[in-house]
Amino acid sequence: MHHKVVIIGSGPAAHTAAIYLSRAELSPVLYEGMLANGIAAGGQLTTTTDVENYPGFPKGIGGQELMDEMRAQSERFGTKIISETIERVDLSSRPFKLWQEYEEEPITASAVIIATGAKWDQCVRGVRRGGAHIQKKPLVVIGGGDSAAEEAMFLAKYGSEVTVLVRRDALRASKTMAKRLLAHPKVKVRFNTVATEVTGEEKTSGLMTGLRVKNPKTGQEEHLEANGLFYAVGHDPATKMFEGVIEMDEEKYILTKPGTSYTNIEGVFAAGDVQDKRYRQAITSAGSGCIAALEAEKFLAEQENEEVTGGIEGESEARKPKENGEAPEYRSNPLL
Ligand code: FAD
Repeated sequence: MHHKVVIIGSGPAAHTAAIYLSRAELSPVLYEGMLANGIAAGGQLTTTTDVENYPGFPKGIGGQELMDEMRAQSERFGTKIISETIERVDLSSRPFKLWQEYEEEPITASAVIIATGAKWDQCVRGVRRGGAHIQKKPLVVIGGGDSAAEEAMFLAKYGSEVTVLVRRDALRASKTMAKRLLAHPKVKVRFNTVATEVTGEEKTSGLMTGLRVKNPKTGQEEHLEANGLFYAVGHDPATKMFEGVIEMDEEKYILTKPGTSYTNIEGVFAAGDVQDKRYRQAITSAGSGCIAALEAEKFLAEQENEEVTGGIEGESEARKPKENGEAPEYRSNPLL
């Protein structure tokens, strides 16, 4: 089956792209995944309680509820949502081929938007609880890199104190960041410390009250008082099936041309956390989903125009089938 545009993923980036493309009457098909990458359809926000920084919800909104609303909005304008995972792709020529899990025959698409997101390594037993309850409360950040340092100093504005747990005996963060972190009056850095279990109130939606930690060298355990836990370690983009296919950085984030969703493959766009290791927010993901949709729409219009007119000057040769009937060659995005 051929589709004009297929979206892989189901977080804010995927659904924003779907809303724009369905409103543009491009009949997008969205593969939301069946526990793809270990996350339920709807993405990372389905694993949290209150989202308080997404505009339009002054009282906050549950992560699952926000994603249910986005899904309903995608469907309202005609997005076809398929609750399956895409497990393999062939993006070497157009139309692109995508294989759904357990299916032998691929579907094809003229354009693909990759919005497969990312996942934080869940290294502690228990749930992450916090949200509105972190004001003037003791907080813990796990990680020793720049992200952990940034997160800790940011959280210090809100919490009574922030403890940073570092597994090794040194910070990985850049010298400047490490210096600032260690000098911060509200931040305490504990080296050789890993978290083992979150403790909390024994009731539904109970709050986090503490954290059990351990020194991996000596095995000594301790209990810390904490009302919020933040991971700044192991943010892994869901890009395994694109390895060797699409250009990525050394941490396996898809490379996009700055300020756009263009990957190195013309007709393949990337949005959300899968290409963003810096901001990693629902709103930035949604914004990049919008960009991907508008760029995919433009790309499809150009394709259609070429079919009607026989090609856009200067671009047509590479896209036309070869004389021997073979598919056109893979060509890098001319804008890169
Ligand atoms: P994700 O949300 O990562 O979703 C991607 C989806 O694609 C997943 O459901 C996955 O299963 C699916 N998928 C992956 N591979 C495939 C495949 N091959 N086929 C089909 N489907 C696939 N941000 C905020 O702005 N505010 C907050 O308060 C906030 N709180 C957070 C709390 C927690 C605990 C976490 C983990 C994150 C939080 N974030 C928050 C960050 C925010 O959730 C992410 O930045 C955002 O969800 C990223 O969106 P995304 O569209 O890139 O995809």
